[in-house]
Amino acid sequence: MDYKTGPKPDIEGHPERVEHYRKQLEIYAYLIEKRYGKKVRRMHLYYTNCQNGDPLITFEWTRSAIDHTVAEISETIKNIENKNFEGSVTNSYACTFCDMRFVCGKAAT
Ligand code: SF4
Repeated sequence: MDYKTGPKPDIEGHPERVEHYRKQLEIYAYLIEKRYGKKVRRMHLYYTNCQNGDPLITFEWTRSAIDHTVAEISETIKNIENKNFEGSVTNSYACTFCDMRFVCGKAAT
């Protein structure tokens, strides 16, 4: 379960709006499995801002989805370690919330 403070997105027909959160939860599920030997069956986003209706978005656990996300993240880590990336930020939205923004030097602001 991951708690989100922003508004719950309307994902009907637009699952890509929570795709990055699904991957985040799959990494958490992978780590729980590896660290504690516990099996995860479902993963939830809980929108604390949701006053009316269902605050949850639920994802079913599947081995193939977890393995795919872990492989994708591993590839990204390999690219970072090999410095195989562009030198500047193209989407600075994440920089606004990043703890490294004051030392990174790549953020636009
Ligand atoms: S501040 Fe730097 S480390 Fe943080 S998201 Fe932006 S580019 Fe990445």
